[in-house]
Amino acid sequence: MGSAMKYLTLLGSTGSIGKNVLEIVRLYPDRFGVKALCAATSVELLADQIKEFAPEVACVIDEPHREKLKRLLPTGCRTELLCGEEGYKLAASHADVSMVVSAFVGAAGLVPTLAAIHAGKSIALANKETLVTAGDLVMPLAAEKGVPILPVDSEHSAIFQCMNGENPQEVGKLILTASGGPFRSTPVDEMGAITLAQALNHPTWSMGKKITIDSATLMNKGLEVIEAHHLFGTPADRIEVVVHPQSIVHSMVAYVDGVVMAQMGQPDMKGAIAYALNYPQRLDIGMPAPDFAALASLTFERPDFLKFRCLKLAFDAAEAGGTLPTVLNAANEVAVAAFLEERIAFLDIPRTIEATMDAHGVITRPDLDDVQEADAWARRKATELLCR
Ligand code: MG
Repeated sequence: MGSAMKYLTLLGSTGSIGKNVLEIVRLYPDRFGVKALCAATSVELLADQIKEFAPEVACVIDEPHREKLKRLLPTGCRTELLCGEEGYKLAASHADVSMVVSAFVGAAGLVPTLAAIHAGKSIALANKETLVTAGDLVMPLAAEKGVPILPVDSEHSAIFQCMNGENPQEVGKLILTASGGPFRSTPVDEMGAITLAQALNHPTWSMGKKITIDSATLMNKGLEVIEAHHLFGTPADRIEVVVHPQSIVHSMVAYVDGVVMAQMGQPDMKGAIAYALNYPQRLDIGMPAPDFAALASLTFERPDFLKFRCLKLAFDAAEAGGTLPTVLNAANEVAVAAFLEERIAFLDIPRTIEATMDAHGVITRPDLDDVQEADAWARRKATELLCR
């Protein structure tokens, strides 16, 4: 029984998620096709991807990058080259596409993902900010349009898999695992001296720079708590984070009878990506199961909320709701960008976010304009606070 081809739009084809998606497309060329490839500024890699996958549409952030991309492609290239937010929206709502992989970094992912949902596309969601900044808008819209949101993040994919066939009313709590990042055992009084190179050296997961810093501060886990709250409709006080340095248990669901379902696998994002792309069927992607005897032990510990202030701030934002998660996320993006440029110290990241949150007047039931205004306000405020 030949199953139909599934055509994809990739929002973020040149990042680590996008590259892994394309690896799976290469493995299953008779099952997946690429209609649109979107990136921000990585035009060299995008040009190579266009030559290999010959999508109908490609889109980059602005006109200068579109010009650069055009010069890298052969004259006969038939891919239509677009740019800017309108271009991303067109790519996300392409008529032949059934699934949009939402893998942009940062808040830039929101508008094209909303366009994809409006157009009735299934969403393989890797972009955290879509739910963190606008979960209260995105989830009801997806429900209204009958659009499935399939998580690509390993933790949410794990929870999604642990809830297959279960009654959501019987969930007691969600348990998100965290590797703990590179500073899990760093003494609290040495946290102030952390360098960029140390923060970029993640022990188990290989990812982009922004998310690697977020993993070092545990903000990544904080954003995942907010995301899980929206995806699964679970209040923040029934979401727990547990540090699990081996990253074999990708997350767990505890049910009302005290039974816990855990999903395990190698710490490789391809597993979750393949699951989302081919849901509800699994794909053989050549990934071996963990060798438990070789692992010998799996360990768990409580996160240190004093040392990892970002995680505490994210729980605060999740509980307050409204525009506060948007502000947390925007201030974090500003602070992490400044840290990556070595303009601020590691502990200035939580300091900047907390001061921005403290200065914000929360809007309880925001619409998209309120969300975008809160996002822009928080970026200005955080930038101003950085300069102090
Ligand atoms: Mg994750």
